[in-house]
Amino acid sequence: MNTLKELTWKQERIAKINKYLETENRKDFIDDTYITSLINKRSTVDKPRIAELIARSKTIKGLSPEDAAYLINIDDKDVWEGLYEAARYVKNEVYGNRIVLFAPMYLSNECVNDCVYCGFRESNDAMKDKVMSYDEIKEEVKAFTSVGHKRVLTVFGEGPNSDANYIAGSMKTIYAVKNGNDEIRRVNINAAPQFVDEYKMIKQAQIGTYQVFQETYNKERYKQLHGKDHIKSIYKWRLFALHRAQEAGISDVAIGALFGIYDWRFEVLGLMYHAADMDREFGVGTHTISFPRFEPAINTPFYNNNKYKVTDDDMRRIVTVLRLSVPYTGMILTARETPEFRRELIQLGVSQTDAGTNIAIGGYTNGQDQVNKVMEKQQFEIGDKRSLDEYISELVDDGYIPSFCTADYRCGRVGCDFMALAKTGKMKKLCIPNAVLTFEEYLLDYASPAVKVKGEKLLNKYVEFVRGNATPAMHKQVEDYLARIRKGERDLYF
Ligand code: SF4
Repeated sequence: MNTLKELTWKQERIAKINKYLETENRKDFIDDTYITSLINKRSTVDKPRIAELIARSKTIKGLSPEDAAYLINIDDKDVWEGLYEAARYVKNEVYGNRIVLFAPMYLSNECVNDCVYCGFRESNDAMKDKVMSYDEIKEEVKAFTSVGHKRVLTVFGEGPNSDANYIAGSMKTIYAVKNGNDEIRRVNINAAPQFVDEYKMIKQAQIGTYQVFQETYNKERYKQLHGKDHIKSIYKWRLFALHRAQEAGISDVAIGALFGIYDWRFEVLGLMYHAADMDREFGVGTHTISFPRFEPAINTPFYNNNKYKVTDDDMRRIVTVLRLSVPYTGMILTARETPEFRRELIQLGVSQTDAGTNIAIGGYTNGQDQVNKVMEKQQFEIGDKRSLDEYISELVDDGYIPSFCTADYRCGRVGCDFMALAKTGKMKKLCIPNAVLTFEEYLLDYASPAVKVKGEKLLNKYVEFVRGNATPAMHKQVEDYLARIRKGERDLYF
């Protein structure tokens, strides 16, 4: 239950938000009736149309919501095999065969909201509230980076002790921790929607990407799941959260939906309309799209009574249609999925994933065994509990080059500049060399002996790829940087 301090803070914030929304002139881009009509249309197999859509998607121009809705509703195994192949092609054209690795770090779980699907909701007495102190964060970062991570997704609940000041202070604390070669080079944020001046404060603390998930885009369902009189009950405040972030100068913003709390086909189209509206207003779409699947949490019976469960086959379709429809956007697969299913989904167009994940507050400091034991500190259950090194071992076996690259925002390739490269298929010319450099750092500093041996072999193949596909100058620079890294230098990038 909320404390008096939390209740007062919440009421004041709701009043401030409602006042602000009187001046919000943006047009709601989610037309529930139209999206529902699209997803309820039956699709019959029209081979010329499907061939045309596949050909168009391979030009990396994307698909319209109407086209996506048509594909979503096709029920033909052969057609889907063709679409899966197209998704693999598009991912490879834009980003190459590299997978960016990160992990989430939960810093606070106090929450004044009461989302029925979430373990952190205020009415869940089985959950212990915790907001990490800056000293605790320093220890958490040391543990987190000691296995090789360079980019972190920090996650915050919503409450008086997790406000923009705390978020900015946490980021500064994280960047300041250096321990030998261990350091965080990019801090991404998943936190509640903020006001523009709050976003400006967070931007100043050198944010990478700001993530806000709409959870469900369907207004009626949103109302059912988020109750009355909570900050999160205000759909419009959340819908334009990332528009305000862009307005404040945060160029890389990320959207997502919690798949499994409403009809997944509605959410796919909602995400597309969201990305399109950001593109329309700011000339830059969303940096990434996440598609977490709803998982059980402690004392959260809603999971068992929910009729919108998403099957594995639905998940394949979600990833594929999003990859074809919004090709320039990074796609984030989460450790909610099982190892076997992650291995399969990653082929369909995923460009980033978390690994070595621990979602307990203070979980990295307390060690890997905590992943299994601390449901009272976790928002949900995760499906892949492997260590970072175990996950990398599998990626290497499958021929993917793991990447810890954080070059883009530090080189100013954010927002429009990033999109221009992604939309023209030029991003991979930088992604692969940067993956090579950061993977070599991992192999030298953190890899187990077995991963080191097979990782170096794979790395040599990618250096050859650069030789064959990039300019001679780029290839020479990669070789020079690798030599310097092997002599002890770190953090070289393009
Ligand atoms: S989903 Fe977010 S806002 Fe809702 S209860 Fe959980 S932590 Fe709070």
